Amino acid sequence: MDAEIIAIGSELLLGATIDTNSAYLARELAAAGVNLYRKTVVGDNAERIAQCVREALERADLVICSGGLGPTPDDVTREGVALALGRPLEFRQELLDQIQARFSAMGRTMSESNRRQAYVPAGARAIPNPRGTAPAFLVEDPRGTVVVLPGVPYELRYLFENAVLPYLREERGVTDVILVKTLHATGLGESVIGELLADLMQQANPTLGISAKQARYELRIGARAASRAEAEALVARAEATIRERLGPNLTGDAPLAETVVRLLRERNLTLSLFEGAAAAPIYRALARVPGALDCLRGLIVHPLDQPADERAASALALAGARDAAARWGSPLALGAQAAATPDPSGLTPVCVALVTPEGDREVTRRYDLRQPEGWEFVATLALDLARRYLMGDAA
Ligand code: AMP
Ligand code: MG
Repeated sequence: MDAEIIAIGSELLLGATIDTNSAYLARELAAAGVNLYRKTVVGDNAERIAQCVREALERADLVICSGGLGPTPDDVTREGVALALGRPLEFRQELLDQIQARFSAMGRTMSESNRRQAYVPAGARAIPNPRGTAPAFLVEDPRGTVVVLPGVPYELRYLFENAVLPYLREERGVTDVILVKTLHATGLGESVIGELLADLMQQANPTLGISAKQARYELRIGARAASRAEAEALVARAEATIRERLGPNLTGDAPLAETVVRLLRERNLTLSLFEGAAAAPIYRALARVPGALDCLRGLIVHPLDQPADERAASALALAGARDAAARWGSPLALGAQAAATPDPSGLTPVCVALVTPEGDREVTRRYDLRQPEGWEFVATLALDLARRYLMGDAA
């Protein structure tokens, strides 16, 4: 089954509200084995909504809309969908009763404007909404099925799980299982990873997608099959190939910082940090991981030195890491120090040192530190140095 999503609301077009509903629906549809080829965002305008719905129905079997079901005159999704399907709006007494009951349960009286919410396109199946006042509905039309859900994210999630998904499974025979597994990698460029995995990325099932974030890569394997066991087998085969090709650059099933914390705990080791920048990128990356503070012994943030070049930065990173390890008696310490000024291309040399009982390791890279995200590369570099040591690689 092919689906499209239409998110309705002028606030979405203004960038005032982030369209989280479409992201949620996209994840859920993928998990249910429904192909999603397109998402659209449109403002609160009946004509334009109708046009989007008509166009989507030309391409897809299922169109899921969200938003614009409120009682105020700017919510016109009912009108737009009715227009697209060439059906009049029809009053449903049972919907009005439900809305009224919800108001009295809340100890409030229903306004006259809530009557609008008891209208649905002729022939629609109403979906009662126990989480809010706006009833949802679905229309089975010869051109395709249109499902209309409220914009309030928790109401949408509730109705999708409890009404739409059961409808798709029980009445529309949507039974495929799609399994997604994410692997994490770092240490290679995105283009190199792309070349190493090109054949897998061109495959239709399982699919492989890569997204990059500050030198960390998420490799998403998606497999579709009639049963969970078959989907698992497809994922396992792709995973084995990826492991073989990326080797130690594959950091694990969890994000890098989580993997480092897990390895520290498993090996019963503690870590101290020296950060030569107020941004303290390594600490910030680690602190987001639950339980990380149990493995962290101490932190020195000392952004006052101005190392003239890479060599001076490297000496400070190592001295700082040794200082941190000695001060708190932790077997491991990471130190990071950037040079004071970037080179003419705008890149700043950054040195990371890892102090271990078996000796020191160091790496230097150049990053654009003019934007805050640049510091996250430093965290990636440092945490990966620790990860490789903890996994027992040769330096
Ligand atoms: P509506 O159903 O259009 O009255 O929207 C009700 C609430 O849900 C408003 O606060 C909207 O900003 C929010 N909302 C509507 N559409 C979305 C969406 N696609 N993603 C996240 N929130 C939304
Ligand atoms: Mg709205």
